[in-house]
Amino acid sequence: MSIAESLHLNRRSILKSSLALLAGGAVGPVAGAEAEIKNVNTASSPSNLTITDMRYAVVVKPGPSPCVLIRIDTNQGVYGLGEVRDIAGPQYALVLKSRLLGENPLRIDYLFQKIAQFGGNARQAGGVCAVEMALWDIAGKVYNIPVYQMLGGKWRDEIRVYADTTESMDPAEYGRRAKERKEMGLTWMKMDLGINVLGGIPGTVMQPSGMSKWELRDQPNPFIATEVTDKGIDRLCEYVAAVRDNIGYDMPLSMDHLGHIGVKSVIRLGKAYEKFNLEWIEDVIPWYYTDLLKEITQQSPTPTLTGEDIYRIEDFETLCREHVVDKIHPDLATSGGILQTHRIGDMAFRYGVPMAMHFAGTPVSCMANVHCAAATRNFLALENHSLDVPFWQDLVTGIEKPIVNKGYIKVPDTPGLGITLNDDEIKRHLKPGTGYFEPTPMWDEVQSWDDALFS
Ligand SMILES: [Mg+2]
Repeated sequence: MSIAESLHLNRRSILKSSLALLAGGAVGPVAGAEAEIKNVNTASSPSNLTITDMRYAVVVKPGPSPCVLIRIDTNQGVYGLGEVRDIAGPQYALVLKSRLLGENPLRIDYLFQKIAQFGGNARQAGGVCAVEMALWDIAGKVYNIPVYQMLGGKWRDEIRVYADTTESMDPAEYGRRAKERKEMGLTWMKMDLGINVLGGIPGTVMQPSGMSKWELRDQPNPFIATEVTDKGIDRLCEYVAAVRDNIGYDMPLSMDHLGHIGVKSVIRLGKAYEKFNLEWIEDVIPWYYTDLLKEITQQSPTPTLTGEDIYRIEDFETLCREHVVDKIHPDLATSGGILQTHRIGDMAFRYGVPMAMHFAGTPVSCMANVHCAAATRNFLALENHSLDVPFWQDLVTGIEKPIVNKGYIKVPDTPGLGITLNDDEIKRHLKPGTGYFEPTPMWDEVQSWDDALFS
C-alpha cells in the first residue's frame, strides 16, 4: 500500500469512528473512543467546570517568608493549589479573583493572558503565577494526569536540587558548613559571598562614607561608587578556597549576593574566581542594564546568570539572543508560572542557554517547579531555601518523603501538582492574626474597568 493510500484509509477510518460516535453518543460501540474516555476523570465534567472561589492562607517559616498559599475552588468540588511568590502579600492574587469567577479554569492560557497585565517584575507577578499554578493543578485533577505530562512529558525522573548554606565570617567555618551540605547528598552547591564579609577590614572596600540606607540597598550598582580593592579580593578568595577545599572541585559551585559593587569590580572578581571554577556569579548588577551585563559576561571568565526578578518572556529572550548572560535563572512564581517558564526554557534552548530555577517557597510552589523542570529540556538545577526547616515537607501530604532525597526530588505521577495540604501542620505555622482559607467576598466584584489594554 502506498503512503497516500494508507493516509486515505486512516482518514476514512477516523471519519467512520466519528460518525459512529455522533450516531451512538459517547457510549457508542467504538473501542478506541471508549479507551480515550476512560482516561478522563468522569467525576468531573470539564466543559461545565467554573471557578467559584479563591481563598488563601499565609505560612511563615524560616528563610524567605511569609508564603501565601491560594486555593481556587470550582463548582464540581475539584480545587487547585497555588503559591504567591515568597514575601509578596495575598492581595496580589486576590485582586484577580473577580476576573476569574465564573470562568472555566481549564482555559489556562486564555486566563493567564487575561490576568497577565496584573503581573510585573519580582514580587509583582506573585499573584498571576499563583493562579496559573492552581489552574494546572485543577486541570491535572480533572483529567487524572500529572502536570508535567500536559507540558509534553518528562525529560527526567528526578529533579536536581541545589542550595546554599548559612554564612560565616570565618572562612574555615564557612567551608565546614558547605561540607555538611555536601554530605546531605547535594550534587550542586551555592554560596553567598559579598563585600559584607569585608566590613571592618581596612583597605578592602572603597566607598564614600555616610551613605544612606537607601543608597546602600536600593540604588543600583553603577551609582554608588563602591569598588572592591585587591586586598578585598584576596580576602574574598579565602572564603571560596575554603569552600572548595571542603567540597572539592567535582561538583558545581554557584555564587550569589556579591554585593552592590561597580561593573569593573565585578569583572575583577570574575577573573579572581576563575581558578575556583564557579558555575556562575548571580545577579551581579540589575538585569535590565543589559549592555553592562554583557560587558561583564564577555570579560569575566566566570560565567554569569540572572533572571529571578524577570516577568516577561520577551526580556528573557533579549538576554538569551544577545548572550547578555551565560545562564538564566527564572523564578517560576515571577516568570509567568508553569507554562510560561517552560516556554522560557525552550526559547533559551534555541539560543544555547541553560536554565537553573530560583525557588524559595513551600512545597506547593516547589512542586510547580518540579513539574516544569521535568518537562523542560535545558533545565540544570532547582534551588531550595528550606533544607534546614524541619516542618517544610510536613506542610503537604500525598507525596513521597523525604521530598528532597539526597539532593533530588522525585517527579510524582499523581494528578495535578501531586500534593495535598496538611491542614494541621499549616495551621501551626500561619502568620499570626491570619485565618485558614477563610471567605474572601470583598474581592468578588471588579472594582475598576481596566481589562482593555488597547482602544
Ligand atoms: Mg539570587
